[in-house]
Amino acid sequence: TTDIAPISEKVLSSVLEKNRTYYTQGKVADYIPELGKMDATAIAFSVVTKDGKIYNTGDTGKKFTMQSISKIIALMIAVNEKGEAGVFDKMGYFGTDQPFNHFSNLETTGKPLNPMMNAGAIYTTSLISGDGEKPFLKILDMVRYITKNQALDYNKSVFESEKATGHRNRGMFYLMKNNGLISGNEEQLDNYFKQCSIELTAEDLAKIGYFFANQCVRFDGDSTYKNAELARLVQSQMLIAGMYEFSGEYARTVGLPSKSGVGGGITVSVPGKMGIGVFSPALDQHGNSSAGYHMILDLVKQYNLSLF
Ligand code: GLN
Repeated sequence: TTDIAPISEKVLSSVLEKNRTYYTQGKVADYIPELGKMDATAIAFSVVTKDGKIYNTGDTGKKFTMQSISKIIALMIAVNEKGEAGVFDKMGYFGTDQPFNHFSNLETTGKPLNPMMNAGAIYTTSLISGDGEKPFLKILDMVRYITKNQALDYNKSVFESEKATGHRNRGMFYLMKNNGLISGNEEQLDNYFKQCSIELTAEDLAKIGYFFANQCVRFDGDSTYKNAELARLVQSQMLIAGMYEFSGEYARTVGLPSKSGVGGGITVSVPGKMGIGVFSPALDQHGNSSAGYHMILDLVKQYNLSLF
């Protein structure tokens, strides 16, 4: 075997530069009008290695909304409160050939396919206990804990923008209410929109990836939430549906549990090892960061990180 240089900012920066222009192959999400204002050229790349060391390159201070990446945090909290059976009795563990905002089988079996697509994620958040915005605040607190960043908050303009235009999500919410899965009012849907609007950096995403890669132990070794079984569940959902209908091809090429968001972020868990966080807002046709995917792919090849 040949020697590979250990992970360093230099290594990350060369991977970033090699893939920087992939943003030209994607498009910034504008179906949520406020997201359309993002700078398509912004790019950042972060890794937290097994020993908890943090490496950053690119526009490291740049904040963006976590969007669908929040779904893994909501899943964790719902399972902690209700147990796995309580969360999955009315939801599947299925992969998908459909985009993230598809109604899938809400009209047939009535059950969301999985907690990674919007329908299942809206359902998952509705299962978290507490009135009003309490469930959202639990998600925010958990993201603050995992990233050890108490300053994190949600972006109110993005939240308002999605609330004003998210009629498809609203449709799923009411269909699930009709099906008896959801009993609350639209405050529960607002909690989903708010969790999607939590703002963070690529470094924060690398810490989230690290957390699930390491049995829910934080990058600094804090083991308050240590739970190998829960980490296994969350990572398995990331692997089969975290990149939506691209998940199968992604498993073939990257081979790691990952979760994307339409804000341009992707978090990656390298089981038992590191966490990776990328940011580049131009998305491919599946709603996954275009340059982000290519940066991950290069690092994975260079360090032989695929599970397979
Ligand atoms: N807030 C977005 C939505 O519900 C999240 C989608 C995503 O990141 N894939 O449409």
